[in-house]
Amino acid sequence: MSAFIIDGKKISKEIRQELAVEIDELSASGVVPGLATVLIGDNPASASYVRMKKKACQKLNIYNESIERESTISEKELLDIIHGLSDDSKIHGILVQLPLPNHINEKKIINAIPAEKDVDGFSPINVGKMMLGQDAFVSCTPAGIQELLVRSGFSPEKKNVVILGRSHIVGMPLANLLMRKARGANSTVTVCHTGTQNLKHVTMQADILIAAMGRPESVTADMVNENAVIIDVGTNRVDAPETEKGYKIVGDVKFNEVVDKVRAISPVPGGVGPMTITMLLKNTVKSAREFMMRQ
Ligand code: NAP
Repeated sequence: MSAFIIDGKKISKEIRQELAVEIDELSASGVVPGLATVLIGDNPASASYVRMKKKACQKLNIYNESIERESTISEKELLDIIHGLSDDSKIHGILVQLPLPNHINEKKIINAIPAEKDVDGFSPINVGKMMLGQDAFVSCTPAGIQELLVRSGFSPEKKNVVILGRSHIVGMPLANLLMRKARGANSTVTVCHTGTQNLKHVTMQADILIAAMGRPESVTADMVNENAVIIDVGTNRVDAPETEKGYKIVGDVKFNEVVDKVRAISPVPGGVGPMTITMLLKNTVKSAREFMMRQ
């Protein structure tokens, strides 16, 4: 039997409808949520992510300031841009699209974003607060995965969750988020990486398996159990000469064979991707509300 498909687009739409109400309320009180998007260079994937984020802002009446610069920009010039946005009261969230060109120190740029405008949740302050169970901007992909699970009826509470990948953007914060003693969390989490021995033995134990390795279609049907819920974070561009673009986007999971074995699965595209953008909008609205409270 084919698995239940966890529809990230549909769940995103529901959340965006809820946000629209909040945005109207905030705007009526004189605070229009504002997001600055900063894109450096001409990486096509980065440009496409920023385009999607800008479009999502427009649709929800979130004010967007779009800053685009050549990859030759100096670190000092970029820091000056961040400082300007930090002081701008129309801007409640600052998003710097990663990766940055090699000559720019990414950590320095992220650290320059004030914690109260760090809607991507990448700054050490927000990561630390999240790990300690304090109120924080939780980074968008982990927050989106948690919402996706809860809203689709597969709460991770008390479940064995296996995460493939320990990056600072996905695996590590997700593990911390799901192991918190809190609603929609309280999971028993195992994190796998390139040092993990006998990966299949670990993945077979998962009630919920979350793949975030950046390895196209590497999770196969023999690695999952029949009751598993699979969340595929992988977004990999692979050659596909038969398509108009010459490439296609696939996940880390071999969808066509895994879908026939497991209980539920999120597709790529249409699973985690839309949720990540929605969580960015949600964090921007949260930031605008907190700004209003501080006035
Ligand atoms: P990353 O920084 O490259 O980290 C990959 C992680 O996977 C590392 O921890 C690595 O282990 C682990 N790994 C790699 N190969 C492995 C293997 N064969 N077995 C076990 N572990 C392995 O990647 P990322 O930034 O987290 O992104 C992961 C994927 O998610 C990418 O496809 C990315 O495009 C996608 N992504 C999607 C969204 C979205 O919104 N949909 C957002 C972010 C990322 P080591 O630590 O040992 O190297």
